Amino acid sequence: MNLVQLNPPSPDPKTAPPFPAAAKIDLRDTQLRRNIARATDTIQRKRAALVEEKKDWQALRDAGAAIRREALRNLDGYLLQFEDRFQAAGGTVHWAANAAEANRVALDILREHDAREVIKIKSMTTAEIGMNEYLAQHNVTAHETDLAELILQLGGDQPSHIVVPALHKNRQQVREIFARSMGLPGLSDDPEALTAAARQYLREKFLRVKTAICGANFLIAETGGVTIVESEGNGRMCLTLPETLIAIVGIEKVIPRFADLEVLLQTLPRSATGERMNPYNSIWSGVIPGDGPKNMHVVLLDNGRTRVLRDGIGRQTLQCIRCGACQNACPVYRQTGGHAYGSVYAGPIGAILTPQLEDMRHAQSLPYASSLCGACYEVCPVKINIPEVLVHLRARVVDRGRRKLASLFDQERAGMMMMAAIFASSRRYEAAQRLARTAQRTVRHGDAWYHWLPGMAGRWTETRDLAPLPQETFREWWQQRRRS
Ligand code: SF4
Repeated sequence: MNLVQLNPPSPDPKTAPPFPAAAKIDLRDTQLRRNIARATDTIQRKRAALVEEKKDWQALRDAGAAIRREALRNLDGYLLQFEDRFQAAGGTVHWAANAAEANRVALDILREHDAREVIKIKSMTTAEIGMNEYLAQHNVTAHETDLAELILQLGGDQPSHIVVPALHKNRQQVREIFARSMGLPGLSDDPEALTAAARQYLREKFLRVKTAICGANFLIAETGGVTIVESEGNGRMCLTLPETLIAIVGIEKVIPRFADLEVLLQTLPRSATGERMNPYNSIWSGVIPGDGPKNMHVVLLDNGRTRVLRDGIGRQTLQCIRCGACQNACPVYRQTGGHAYGSVYAGPIGAILTPQLEDMRHAQSLPYASSLCGACYEVCPVKINIPEVLVHLRARVVDRGRRKLASLFDQERAGMMMMAAIFASSRRYEAAQRLARTAQRTVRHGDAWYHWLPGMAGRWTETRDLAPLPQETFREWWQQRRRS
């Protein structure tokens, strides 16, 4: 099968257009907006009903926030504890400072096991580092097994939601993708028929491919456990059938104790999919002889997270448990959908996470992709004050703009000092004129005015044209006249 078709490029904040420009395009797509509204309405309704029945919901949110804050406060210690316990149980832990390192570690493991194909569980972290494209470039085919990720992969599309990545597609569109890519022209758009087609397509891969890649919802420091929750059972297949399992996990995913799951496994499914509990909850603590993978690796990914941790206000972003509730509640996301954010992380969490991971060099328009209504904060199960972080990041964008302006003023001041030195001496002034005329002769012919100049000089031609230097100055003409 065509590798290019299997690996649509991950959205890249470094090259994505600013949010307002991208949003303008997506706002014109009424089908997309209808699909998003229907899907987010449904999830929100289910979530609200389940939250309503939990009388201690606010206490659960407080407890969840406290667990995540504690983990981040002692992140180094908990990560080392996890490494120690996981390796003692036969697993291997790798540390990756950035995307390139994480991808290389995964590829080395795959090569060690002579793997040309991998099956994958939905993982935003692997999307963040563009792992599928990287593996394809090195002749390894990644098969997504989550239904939504499969739809996107076969359709050459990108995720638009953290939990429901293909939420912008309706079932007629899914039918077309499956019919075309699976060679099933008579396929109906009945949900059962679509899931049966996906099951059939994936089953062969589950049974054949011996290596799997996953992310993780939580790493448990106390037990060395890797926790993965999911709703379709594809994860359980990937976690149990292959001989080698590689988990790519952001360092912020660690939690201190096994007992912390009591809180987080109540709040996560309710917030994410409107379920009391995820149907499949798997915890692997190293390698267990006769059960599951024979080799298990965890790659701990930084990729900008320690930088986020250093920021007293921004660090709460790392408390996120990727439930997507803020996306469903956000009036901006609900109109534009996820693609306009130019990152695998869309919606309110994307608006605060992406600019921080990218060190504010890119995605500077994202902190403004919000009305600051606070709906995201109200639904967040770990009480991340998203509006507070948005305002904080907006201030950083403004500061950055000021610094840029200041550096322009510095350049201008240096230019003025140079001009002052030239004007202070007639010899320097004449030498500068000769130099400028020589330079002019190399780039132009004739007397046409300049409409464009490079660098700082271009600020002049932005608004007006510049006359070319005369071939002869007044002094030269005068001296010539006196000689003749
Ligand atoms: S910021 Fe909160 S609501 Fe949004 S995805 Fe993360 S945990 Fe969920």
